[in-house]
Amino acid sequence: MESLEQQFRGLSIEQRLALYEPLYPSAVELKKGSRQICKNTPKGWTEYRRRRNFVWEVYDRKCWLCGQPVSSEEVTADHRDPRGMGGGSRDDRVEAIRPCHGECNTRRGSRRIAGGESCPYCEHGVVVGGKKDRECFRCNAKWEAVNGV
Ligand SMILES: [Zn+2]
Ligand SMILES: [Zn+2]
Repeated sequence: MESLEQQFRGLSIEQRLALYEPLYPSAVELKKGSRQICKNTPKGWTEYRRRRNFVWEVYDRKCWLCGQPVSSEEVTADHRDPRGMGGGSRDDRVEAIRPCHGECNTRRGSRRIAGGESCPYCEHGVVVGGKKDRECFRCNAKWEAVNGV
């Protein structure tokens, strides 16, 4: 069988994500707005771990927040939308989770991602935004949000 690494060669992130097939479709709850939640059952957790491993391969085994390599033992699934993990808007689709160091995940907390902004210091494309402040996990720069949002 071809490894994921071989299957992904030459494909964009979107094309890679589109290849995902759940192992246990019955262990996944389908919610409004096409959200998906892996059930709190052994099969649901296996499905969740499999998704985490899949996105780890999709993003070339790198943490999406800091851009550094992350091992399969260290990798956690970061929900792109900070409301993603708890409550009514959790979404476990592979499109909604990203591989992340446990440390970066904790450091981000529930802060959102400042969409469309790049770090002005190192050009990293993922900027974490608080209410007024911005932070880059690649070069560790912090700065004030321009419009205070
Ligand atoms: Zn990281
Ligand atoms: Zn930076």
